[in-house]
Amino acid sequence: MLGTLKRAVGRTTHDFRECRRCGTTLDGPTARCPACGSRDVARYEIE
Ligand SMILES: [Zn+2]
Repeated sequence: MLGTLKRAVGRTTHDFRECRRCGTTLDGPTARCPACGSRDVARYEIE
């Protein structure tokens, strides 16, 4: 199941950030949430 999903996505490594406080998805290497100003940002990597 997981193997099938990985093949479907391909080799592209993608990461994104999401504010832990308000849930806003941040674009690019932003260290601070533009919506609420929080620096508590979670970073996710998707392979
Ligand atoms: Zn926020």
